[in-house]
Amino acid sequence: MQRRHFLRQAGVTFAAASTVSLAACAKRPLVAEQPAKAIPAQVARLESNVAEIAPIKAETDRITGVYVCTRPFRAAGPRIETEKLDHKTIVHNYGHGGSGWSLSWGSSALALRMVQATGARQLGVIGCGALGLTSAILAQRAGLSVRIYARELPPDVYSMRASGLWTPDSRICDAEHAPAFADRWEEMTRASFRTYQSLLGLPGKPIEWIDGYAVSDQPWDHPEPPVADEPEYGSFHSRVRDLTPHSVDLVAGSHPFPQAYVKRYTTMMFNISAYARMLMSDFLVAGGTIEVREFHDPRELVKLPEHTLINATGYGARALFKDESIIPVRGQTARLIPQPEVNYSLYTGTLSTVPRSDGVLVQVIGDTGNFNNSDITPNRAVSEAAVRELGELFARMRRG
Ligand SMILES: Cc1cc2nc3c(=O)[nH]c(=O)nc-3n(C[C@H](O)[C@H](O)[C@H](O)COP(=O)(O)OP(=O)(O)OC[C@H]3O[C@@H](n4cnc5c(N)ncnc54)[C@H](O)[C@@H]3O)c2cc1C
Repeated sequence: MQRRHFLRQAGVTFAAASTVSLAACAKRPLVAEQPAKAIPAQVARLESNVAEIAPIKAETDRITGVYVCTRPFRAAGPRIETEKLDHKTIVHNYGHGGSGWSLSWGSSALALRMVQATGARQLGVIGCGALGLTSAILAQRAGLSVRIYARELPPDVYSMRASGLWTPDSRICDAEHAPAFADRWEEMTRASFRTYQSLLGLPGKPIEWIDGYAVSDQPWDHPEPPVADEPEYGSFHSRVRDLTPHSVDLVAGSHPFPQAYVKRYTTMMFNISAYARMLMSDFLVAGGTIEVREFHDPRELVKLPEHTLINATGYGARALFKDESIIPVRGQTARLIPQPEVNYSLYTGTLSTVPRSDGVLVQVIGDTGNFNNSDITPNRAVSEAAVRELGELFARMRRG
């Protein structure tokens, strides 16, 4: 993800923090002391406080795994439409780029409307990732009997290798197609957001709101070049600015980071291990059935007993439906041993961390060579270098 894109998604505005946001900042849990000099009255209320940051134990021998998957990117945005295949109706629901978890409920609600238009009472869902599971559960809630067919189930689906942040417009379409896709994107985003609010406060915390810190040596309006070998992506954050809190500039002395420019943002996090397990058990408890099965040709779908199918095969749709409009965008994360005391995400311009309950994720940001790259071989050396870079940041913080 490029820096400016990340910052937009995190709701980071480029204007100086307002009086209101600084006041809000002052109410947050803050500790420790540092003198602040010659700062305005609004800021002064922060002067005796420093944001509490439990250090990440960024050591390479704490890496529990390095995970790679491909984002199923389509320049025009996800394919959510109906196709007739002999006497079957296939509703496609794939191609969600770097936004599949974030958009899943809204996208699957659109797919379900298309299913309901057929009058079907039995539904087959091909795929058991973020899109397949949410499609299946929404269909059950609408009274349909649902069977999932999938080659892999969680934890072996690509969806399990995502970072787990609310990123509804990450690599979701290119800039050229953005105007045509914008209204549909907003509808999906708002519907997903509403559903996620109903999943807060549950056992295992599948969904949480967390704070994050974006740190930089450069002012935020410093122009940042896009990733050299990726297209300009559609950006829609301004359409849903009301959904997430605005970011806050933290003045020197109110945070422990060595960088000159620090913003705090607030966002949603998906604890993917707990969340996927919850979705699987919700589906099964509601009477859903699962058949592990691989399809090699759409004609095999014609033989299934259900007359209506949702195709939620993600990147797999490229091979199954010969859809070459799906471009793989490779992404790699390393997972460190969980640290429950680390409750914030961090964005440095070259790295991003996510404090999930199943491990602290470390991801390199803005690197090249990922677009149209379907190689899912992990490169541990890259992740180790990222963890060392993170370790150096915390060492600088300790030194003050
Ligand atoms: C590094 C990285 C970080 C990411 N971070 C985020 C994030 O923070 N937030 C976010 O919202 N999104 C994120 N994403 C994007 C997100 O992971 C994807 O958009 C999402 O997982 C796509 O889900 P899916 O259900 O369409 O596909 P998948 O998870 O790939 O599921 C596809 C399903 O279809 C099955 N299937 C495929 N082909 C066949 C076949 N031929 N026969 C039978 N079954 C088949 C598979 O076995 C699987 O069950 C990230 C992606 C990457 C790579």
